[in-house]
Amino acid sequence: MTVSDHRLQDAIDTLKSSGVRITPQRHAVLEFLLNAMTHPTADEIYKALESKFPNMSVATVYNNLRVFKDIGLVRELTYGDSSSRFDCNTSDHYHAICNNCGKIVDFHYPSLNEVESLAEQVTGFDVSHHRMEVYGTCSKCQTEMAH
Ligand SMILES: [Zn+2]
Ligand SMILES: [Zn+2]
Repeated sequence: MTVSDHRLQDAIDTLKSSGVRITPQRHAVLEFLLNAMTHPTADEIYKALESKFPNMSVATVYNNLRVFKDIGLVRELTYGDSSSRFDCNTSDHYHAICNNCGKIVDFHYPSLNEVESLAEQVTGFDVSHHRMEVYGTCSKCQTEMAH
Protein backbone atom coordinates (compact mmCIF):
# COMPACT_ATOMS: atom_id res chain seq x y z
CA MET A 1 0.00 0.00 0.00
CA THR A 2 1.25 3.47 -0.81
CA VAL A 3 1.02 6.38 1.60
CA SER A 4 -2.10 7.71 -0.09
CA ASP A 5 -3.75 4.25 0.06
CA HIS A 6 -3.23 4.32 3.81
CA ARG A 7 -4.68 7.80 4.04
CA LEU A 8 -7.63 6.75 1.88
CA GLN A 9 -8.27 3.76 4.13
CA ASP A 10 -8.01 5.95 7.24
CA ALA A 11 -10.42 8.46 5.72
CA ILE A 12 -12.89 5.70 4.80
CA ASP A 13 -12.68 4.34 8.35
CA THR A 14 -13.43 7.83 9.66
CA LEU A 15 -16.45 8.11 7.36
CA LYS A 16 -17.72 4.69 8.43
CA SER A 17 -17.36 5.43 12.12
CA SER A 18 -19.24 8.70 11.57
CA GLY A 19 -22.07 6.74 10.00
CA VAL A 20 -21.52 8.20 6.52
CA ARG A 21 -22.47 5.91 3.66
CA ILE A 22 -19.64 5.36 1.15
CA THR A 23 -21.10 5.77 -2.32
CA PRO A 24 -18.86 5.22 -5.38
CA GLN A 25 -18.95 8.97 -6.06
CA ARG A 26 -18.06 9.83 -2.48
CA HIS A 27 -15.18 7.38 -2.66
CA ALA A 28 -13.96 8.93 -5.93
CA VAL A 29 -14.13 12.50 -4.58
CA LEU A 30 -12.20 11.46 -1.49
CA GLU A 31 -9.57 9.59 -3.49
CA PHE A 32 -9.13 12.56 -5.83
CA LEU A 33 -8.68 14.94 -2.90
CA LEU A 34 -6.11 12.74 -1.19
CA ASN A 35 -4.09 12.31 -4.37
CA ALA A 36 -4.31 15.92 -5.51
CA MET A 37 -2.03 17.99 -3.37
CA THR A 38 -3.34 21.03 -5.22
CA HIS A 39 -6.18 22.31 -3.00
CA PRO A 40 -8.79 21.90 -5.75
CA THR A 41 -12.11 23.73 -6.05
CA ALA A 42 -15.37 21.75 -6.23
CA ASP A 43 -15.49 22.60 -9.91
CA GLU A 44 -12.02 21.17 -10.56
CA ILE A 45 -12.97 17.95 -8.79
CA TYR A 46 -16.17 17.80 -10.81
CA LYS A 47 -14.29 18.24 -14.10
CA ALA A 48 -11.77 15.55 -13.17
CA LEU A 49 -14.48 12.99 -12.31
CA GLU A 50 -17.11 13.97 -14.85
CA SER A 51 -16.18 11.28 -17.37
CA LYS A 52 -16.31 8.54 -14.71
CA PHE A 53 -19.67 9.69 -13.30
CA PRO A 54 -21.76 11.27 -16.08
CA ASN A 55 -24.75 11.68 -13.73
CA MET A 56 -22.81 13.55 -11.11
CA SER A 57 -23.33 17.33 -10.75
CA VAL A 58 -21.14 20.03 -9.20
CA ALA A 59 -23.76 20.18 -6.43
CA THR A 60 -23.13 16.50 -5.64
CA VAL A 61 -19.40 17.16 -5.39
CA TYR A 62 -20.12 20.12 -3.14
CA ASN A 63 -22.42 18.09 -0.90
CA ASN A 64 -19.76 15.40 -0.53
CA LEU A 65 -17.16 18.01 0.33
CA ARG A 66 -19.48 19.42 3.01
CA VAL A 67 -19.87 15.94 4.51
CA PHE A 68 -16.07 15.53 4.59
CA LYS A 69 -15.70 18.99 6.09
CA ASP A 70 -18.29 18.33 8.82
CA ILE A 71 -16.44 15.28 10.08
CA GLY A 72 -13.06 17.01 9.85
CA LEU A 73 -11.55 15.20 6.86
CA VAL A 74 -11.03 18.34 4.81
CA ARG A 75 -10.69 22.04 5.39
CA GLU A 76 -12.41 24.63 3.31
CA LEU A 77 -10.23 27.56 2.30
CA THR A 78 -12.04 30.75 1.45
CA TYR A 79 -10.03 33.62 0.09
CA GLY A 80 -12.76 36.14 -0.47
CA ASP A 81 -13.76 34.89 -3.90
CA SER A 82 -16.66 32.63 -4.77
CA SER A 83 -14.69 29.43 -5.31
CA SER A 84 -13.64 27.72 -2.11
CA ARG A 85 -10.67 25.43 -2.25
CA PHE A 86 -10.51 22.18 -0.33
CA ASP A 87 -7.52 20.94 1.59
CA CYS A 88 -7.23 17.36 2.83
CA ASN A 89 -4.20 18.27 4.89
CA THR A 90 -5.88 19.07 8.21
CA SER A 91 -2.67 19.44 10.21
CA ASP A 92 -1.55 22.98 11.10
CA HIS A 93 0.15 24.49 8.10
CA TYR A 94 0.43 27.63 6.04
CA HIS A 95 -0.04 28.38 2.38
CA ALA A 96 2.15 30.00 -0.25
CA ILE A 97 -0.08 31.26 -3.06
CA CYS A 98 1.09 32.05 -6.59
CA ASN A 99 -0.08 35.47 -7.85
CA ASN A 100 0.20 34.23 -11.40
CA CYS A 101 -1.44 30.79 -11.58
CA GLY A 102 -3.18 30.58 -8.20
CA LYS A 103 -1.30 27.44 -7.15
CA ILE A 104 -1.28 26.81 -3.38
CA VAL A 105 1.67 25.08 -1.75
CA ASP A 106 1.73 23.88 1.88
CA PHE A 107 4.51 24.70 4.29
CA HIS A 108 5.00 24.29 8.02
CA TYR A 109 6.38 26.78 10.50
CA PRO A 110 5.53 25.54 14.01
CA SER A 111 7.20 28.45 15.81
CA LEU A 112 4.34 30.70 14.71
CA ASN A 113 2.11 28.89 17.21
CA GLU A 114 3.63 31.21 19.81
CA VAL A 115 1.67 34.01 18.15
CA GLU A 116 -1.50 32.53 19.62
CA SER A 117 -0.31 32.60 23.23
CA LEU A 118 1.10 36.09 22.73
CA ALA A 119 -2.23 37.24 21.27
CA GLU A 120 -4.07 35.72 24.24
CA GLN A 121 -1.86 37.57 26.69
CA VAL A 122 -2.13 40.89 24.87
CA THR A 123 -5.82 40.81 23.98
CA GLY A 124 -7.38 38.51 26.59
CA PHE A 125 -8.92 36.52 23.73
CA ASP A 126 -9.41 32.78 23.88
CA VAL A 127 -7.68 32.23 20.53
CA SER A 128 -9.06 29.38 18.44
CA HIS A 129 -6.73 29.44 15.44
CA HIS A 130 -4.81 31.64 13.08
CA ARG A 131 -4.20 31.76 9.39
CA MET A 132 -1.31 33.03 7.33
CA GLU A 133 -0.62 33.15 3.63
CA VAL A 134 2.42 34.29 1.72
CA TYR A 135 2.07 35.45 -1.87
CA GLY A 136 4.52 35.40 -4.73
CA THR A 137 5.42 33.63 -7.95
CA CYS A 138 5.72 29.83 -7.89
CA SER A 139 8.85 28.16 -9.26
CA LYS A 140 7.03 26.91 -12.38
CA CYS A 141 5.80 30.42 -13.24
CA GLN A 142 9.26 31.85 -12.57
CA THR A 143 10.72 29.41 -15.09
CA GLU A 144 8.05 30.23 -17.63
CA MET A 145 8.54 33.96 -17.17
CA ALA A 146 12.28 33.61 -17.75
CA HIS A 147 11.68 32.30 -21.29
ZN1 LIG B 1 2.40 29.91 -10.53
ZN1 LIG C 1 -2.88 23.19 2.54
